[in-house]
Amino acid sequence: MMQPVASSLIDGVERRSSAVREVRDPGDRDTVLGQVCLADVETAKEAIDSAEKAAQAWGATPAPRRGRVLFEAAQQLDARKADLARLLTREEGKTLNESVFEVDRSINLFRFYGALCFKLGGKTLPSNDPNSYIYTVREPLGVVGVVTPWNFPLSIPAWKIAPALAAGDAVVFKPASQTPLMAKELVYALLAAGLPKGVLNMVLGLGSVVGDTLVASAKVRAVSFTGSSETGRHINTQAGQRMLRLQLELGGKNALVVMDDADIDLAVELAAKGAFGLTGQACTAASRLLVQQGIASDLLRKLVLRSSGMVVGHGLETGVEVGPLSSEDQFYKVRRYIEIGKEEADLVAGGGVARTPKKGFYVSPTIFTDVAPEDRIFQEEIFGPVLSVTTFRDLGDAINLVNSASYGLTAGIVTRSHANVATFASKADAGVIRVNKPLPGLELQVPYGGFKDSGNDQYKEMGEEALDFYTRTKAVYVGY
Ligand code: NAP
Repeated sequence: MMQPVASSLIDGVERRSSAVREVRDPGDRDTVLGQVCLADVETAKEAIDSAEKAAQAWGATPAPRRGRVLFEAAQQLDARKADLARLLTREEGKTLNESVFEVDRSINLFRFYGALCFKLGGKTLPSNDPNSYIYTVREPLGVVGVVTPWNFPLSIPAWKIAPALAAGDAVVFKPASQTPLMAKELVYALLAAGLPKGVLNMVLGLGSVVGDTLVASAKVRAVSFTGSSETGRHINTQAGQRMLRLQLELGGKNALVVMDDADIDLAVELAAKGAFGLTGQACTAASRLLVQQGIASDLLRKLVLRSSGMVVGHGLETGVEVGPLSSEDQFYKVRRYIEIGKEEADLVAGGGVARTPKKGFYVSPTIFTDVAPEDRIFQEEIFGPVLSVTTFRDLGDAINLVNSASYGLTAGIVTRSHANVATFASKADAGVIRVNKPLPGLELQVPYGGFKDSGNDQYKEMGEEALDFYTRTKAVYVGY
């Protein structure tokens, strides 16, 4: 069978290049899934120019008509749901259930922003002058850049591209080099839905090459970026030179707090799913578990049992709960952190490569206890199935530990006490608070974004709020 080739797409035309890389299944390294052609700076500039030409007509298209294109894109994705989920598992590694969830969410994102096109408006305001009225309108920005990571290769692009198109912007999309096949599927679904050529151009190339071009171009009015805090800082410095509108959603070191009064079985499930589901490669994953002293030994015993029983393997196999890490880089990085953890704390589960029938980047769910707040495995984002456990005396103590990390993306608590919930929700320094729920699991109608090193916290993603980033507001004063 012919293997798919993903290449940059400008004005609806594929741009092949001689710089080609293989895309392999991270759970079965002998399987080549396709090829990706990497673009250069010139191609990125052409993509920007083409988007600039297309932006005006798309911005002038009545918003409800733009909405219909988004609905149709949702239909296109829906019709291929099962195939897309399988491809997602093979390209990124997550389990099939996790992929189905991601594909569903992406479809619903297009429906949600398609519907918002029918109410995209401003407001009317009273004037001091009796013979006047004032109203505001939202206007598109023009060309926007969208730069995304590999860990949610369909839903993160969807939650940026859908509101951008709803707002009337033209998009230059720079997906992660590691997951070009899912990016291609998304762009083709939009083209098949009737999106005019040039309104969405895709540039597949290394971030250090084409990403910089996007951020540096004066024709690009805003860039929405999700990725590591390190890359985010680099982009922020570059963007500051020209006061570019920037949305940065970055790393996390999220803590799940378990109080003595918690339902212990629920807490075990939330910790195991939150830390090891998605192979720990979610920005919202639980990577720190903070347990009140009274239930610590009981909870830990059950958690070690539960995590040791989790089936690690290829995401397409039935019963697998933990897929492979997504790349060789991830594999080495996570194993390096496990070695650091062995020096800093006590290893009580996992601790290395998992044995599986397939040759892939498999690591066992790993738990360290007696982790000190200053330890690297307590402070630094590992982005793999590694959980650092620490105990605490009281809620104040727990909140101090939660807030001691430089990140502030999500924080969770497991408790039966309403007072604990209220105190935690107001004092935890994180953009998302989850109570008696797993840390990962965002709903698309809810504004999302992190604090501190987890983002620049100027604009939210998802929800109606996402439209604020992709539009500008004009005030009109009318006297009569
Ligand atoms: P990354 O290395 O920062 O890459 C993210 C994207 O930026 C990729 O498309 C990458 O391209 C591109 N890039 C790299 N260098 C660039 C540059 N100089 N200028 C512009 N773009 C550049 O992050 P990752 O490893 O893909 O993703 C994992 C990270 O994302 C984790 O830290 C995770 O916490 C974070 N994340 C955050 C959220 C959130 O919502 N807060 C969600 C998901 C993931 P290449 O692929 O070509 O390198």
